Amino acid sequence: MPREPFVRDASIVLPGIASAHSHAFQRVLRGRTQRSRGAGAGSFWSWRGLMYSIATRVSPEDLYAISRYAFVELATAGITCVGEFHYVHHDTNGASYAERTLLSGTLIRAARDAGLRIALLRVVYLRAGLGRTLEDAQRRFVDPSIEHALRDVDTLSSQHADDACVRVGLAPHSVRAVDRASLREAARFANERSLPLHMHVSEQRREVRECLAEHGVRPVALLSDVGALSDRFSAVHATHLDAHEAKLLGTSRSFACICRTTERDLGDGAPDLAALSASGVRFTTGTDSHASVDPFEEVRAMELDERTRAEAREVALDAEGIVGSLTHDAFDSLGFDLDALDDEVVLDARDPAIDTLAERSDRAAVLDAIAWQASARAVRRVTVAGRTIVEDGRHVDYDAARTAYEDAIRRLL
Ligand SMILES: [Zn+2]
Repeated sequence: MPREPFVRDASIVLPGIASAHSHAFQRVLRGRTQRSRGAGAGSFWSWRGLMYSIATRVSPEDLYAISRYAFVELATAGITCVGEFHYVHHDTNGASYAERTLLSGTLIRAARDAGLRIALLRVVYLRAGLGRTLEDAQRRFVDPSIEHALRDVDTLSSQHADDACVRVGLAPHSVRAVDRASLREAARFANERSLPLHMHVSEQRREVRECLAEHGVRPVALLSDVGALSDRFSAVHATHLDAHEAKLLGTSRSFACICRTTERDLGDGAPDLAALSASGVRFTTGTDSHASVDPFEEVRAMELDERTRAEAREVALDAEGIVGSLTHDAFDSLGFDLDALDDEVVLDARDPAIDTLAERSDRAAVLDAIAWQASARAVRRVTVAGRTIVEDGRHVDYDAARTAYEDAIRRLL
């Protein structure tokens, strides 16, 4: 039997919530990228410039402090599992650390110390883009070859094989950052090992234009051609797809991981959710840049932004679909079987935002309360693998994590 949300006393109990796409270190950009800073500010690419300046300098110690605090916030908002799309691998000169997987291991440690499950999605970044020279920060991302990256995935998998709260997956960064032959190799590797395979897909129109110029096809058609699409594949953002690409994702039972609060912040545009939904694509969401962290608002925004885009109150995702995106589908996309886990998220059913449960508490009413009414504020208790990490709405290590985070911020900014 699938573990479903239910009402217990004056609480709504969920079986776990997963954020399928996170870049924890970007947490430090929150509220710091909204003001103009000279020419060119205000675009996705200028935001990326600020992000790169942090990525250029962050030390392993600071990365740990920032990530642990970001994960503590996720837990406080009700998230029990995070998919960390991790791309800073090397030292500030671009050389491998003596322990090559040091920073991936740091992210895993930060999540486990915050009490979360984690799927570490080890990013493959091989180039700045066809014909582009590397920028400074990108030296920390780039591997000399696809083989180096794949070896790291095997190393991490064997290092964490005994921890049931850890999965390792593979994440070619984008069609911009990985050439065709390496994409094919990454897909083969993930398929052989049944690993989650995640990738940024068509977040920006520029990526689609460059893919057409280099390959003569759009990004999802290229991914289909190299064998990347499957029921373990997640297309993160999937913003600028045509109808054929939506069909390719749906037919292969791939996931689309939509991150509306970040996509809105960055002015990315909005995906055609109705087309993706009609094609059979499964949806997940992610806190992505951590611009704001409320998994209920994040998942609800998929449907509500679709209504804005379509200028109609049409339904691409009903309450059942929204709750599925938050729970079973999100865990599935990260390689976890939610029904086998001992996670629990307890919401106050008497939170001011939650109205309808006073009348009835059948399955539909519970799903409606989560999908259309709940917010992170209602989260009272969070348990992961039997361990309670949030009690009375507060993370058990909040103060220590906050202090360490503030120290890291002072060093970095
Ligand atoms: Zn991302």
